Amino acid sequence: MKYIIGNWKMNKTAGEIVEFTRGLKKYKFPKDKDIIFGLAVPYVYLLGMSKLQVRFWIGAQNVSEHSHGAYTGEISAEMLADVGLDFCIVGHSERRTLYHESDAIVNEKLKQLQEYDMLPILCIGETLEEFEAGKTHDVLSRQIREALKGLDLKKEMIVAYEPVWAIGTGKSATAENIKESVSFIKSEIKKVGADYPVLYGGSVNPANASEILHIDCVDGALIGGASLDPDRYVQIASALYSN
Ligand code: PEP
Repeated sequence: MKYIIGNWKMNKTAGEIVEFTRGLKKYKFPKDKDIIFGLAVPYVYLLGMSKLQVRFWIGAQNVSEHSHGAYTGEISAEMLADVGLDFCIVGHSERRTLYHESDAIVNEKLKQLQEYDMLPILCIGETLEEFEAGKTHDVLSRQIREALKGLDLKKEMIVAYEPVWAIGTGKSATAENIKESVSFIKSEIKKVGADYPVLYGGSVNPANASEILHIDCVDGALIGGASLDPDRYVQIASALYSN
């Protein structure tokens, strides 16, 4: 199975979403391929997405680490499951950096999602400083170990390797870096007794998609900026059908 998942972050109005889906409908997505297309959209548009009849997985970009109660502005895993979402992103580097989400909080969020059988997309990745200091393996290993503590490892999960220095910078990791890190992540996940697909994210665009998506250990892409435009999203997805 391959996954092409867009993360819209805090972008788009309702009108722009309608435009986006019109743009997508120009294309015929092959039905015979084992490819899941998905979009992580802002909370307020999650319910409306089903009316647009796009056969995509629809997911949230974040979830509360708490189950319910006096947490103004937060959204629980139970609520996300209640509206029938397909997945939820957890531990995106923007959440870890801008909102100070620790490994322990990421772990609590994953526990909440598991309780309601929501599929998490767990983001992990090293900063530029860590990369340059040769600490990539240490960071990935810690993030995996801490995130998965106390979880039911038989439940499904997707992991996204997103080097922080490649997110939104236009500077993707090299194919060699990606292959090395994704293979390492898979072996670390196996060590704790789990087996999850691993996506790559970080400045994926129509020009580099083919090379990245054809790396044998890479199970798909998590796409930020380029997923805002239907043509670019489709060009990236099309890279899966080409040799
Ligand atoms: C992301 O935010 O998950 C991401 C990969 O962003 P971009 O593709 O814009 O680098």
